Amino acid sequence: MTNDSSFASLGLSAPLLKAIDLQHYTEAYPIQAEVIPAALAGKDILGIAQTGSGKTASFVLPILELLTKTPAAKSRYIKALVLVPTRELAAQVGEVFQQLGSKLPQKIKTLAVFGGVSINPQMMALHGVEILIATPGRLLDLIDSKAVHLSEVKILVLDEADKMLNLGFKEEMTKLFALLPAKRQNMLFSATLGKEIDSITEFLLQNPVRIEIKGETFSIDSIDQSAYLVAEERKSPLLRYLIKKQEMKQVLVFTSSVHKADSVVKKLNANGIQAVALHSEKSQGARTEALRSFKAGKLRVLVATDLASRGIDIQSLPFVINYELPRSPKDYIHRIGRTGRAASVGIAISLISPASEHHFKVIQKKMGKQIVMHQTDDLDLKGF
Ligand code: AMP
Repeated sequence: MTNDSSFASLGLSAPLLKAIDLQHYTEAYPIQAEVIPAALAGKDILGIAQTGSGKTASFVLPILELLTKTPAAKSRYIKALVLVPTRELAAQVGEVFQQLGSKLPQKIKTLAVFGGVSINPQMMALHGVEILIATPGRLLDLIDSKAVHLSEVKILVLDEADKMLNLGFKEEMTKLFALLPAKRQNMLFSATLGKEIDSITEFLLQNPVRIEIKGETFSIDSIDQSAYLVAEERKSPLLRYLIKKQEMKQVLVFTSSVHKADSVVKKLNANGIQAVALHSEKSQGARTEALRSFKAGKLRVLVATDLASRGIDIQSLPFVINYELPRSPKDYIHRIGRTGRAASVGIAISLISPASEHHFKVIQKKMGKQIVMHQTDDLDLKGF
């Protein structure tokens, strides 16, 4: 354990420190201060931490450092494998590898593969890849077609292992583990522990260094929450009013259904506010593109179903609006947690119809926080 939170003290080489600097990470987060030295020492890691803790960089940096010191492998024999539960997370982790590896004198080829898009381009792109980020199902398909081999893997990471199990990937994971060489370094990250995770950690990890980061680094208190009581038919103009009056340049709007997400987007566009929908009925290509342009600040409004509320990290998102409330208080917290992350302040606004007033009280009670409710009956929404 180290008390020094500077990256320079953690044993990383200059090109990585330069890339960290470019990301404006001034200090290592607690999980990074603990995981990085242990991982560099070749230890197995059990990290109990959630999205928002900085866990991604905590495994990305040591992997990059360690792989610069290993000899070249045959093509398609990857050296590091990161298993993730979702396509979005795969793409996101892939991006972090690109960013933090950008200053290495010898580029380490990294690729993220996932289902829902055609497999052929992935098969071709795997040539020369050393670090592979993958969802379990697509990885098995790629192995079947001999596009990639796991027998030279030196480092295995399971990211969001609990979610992988929840999504029913146990069988795929077991198949994959059987293809790995016996001698390797393992890191497992999970937000929660439980029987199933315990069985995997016992089987997978050897004398792991256990690192637990309690809660997300974002706290509910760093989010400025408010609510507007509004008749259902006035929600649409009220949304436009809020976006315009508060000069929102980047706002994530949540709806409960795919249909509603599409209709909100349609109305925003018809009123000259640029918006795109993100939900399960969009193609993977459209989803990736919507997130990419939203993250880059090129898209003003992203209207999403709860698909987008978990795991997706959008740096310092200033505004989240619940156009409709989610059913569970937990999802409410996940949604508003997309703002106010990593020490920046965020604003979360909920539009509450009279029918959902009671449900909103339940959410506040569960959260242990009372939220100011603005009345809107007298608000003139003409022209919005
Ligand atoms: P993660 O938990 O890996 O999804 O990371 C959460 C967010 O924190 C991401 O937006 C990272 O870019 C950011 N982040 C990670 N490490 C640091 C750091 N040391 N300083 C500032 N931001 C960081």
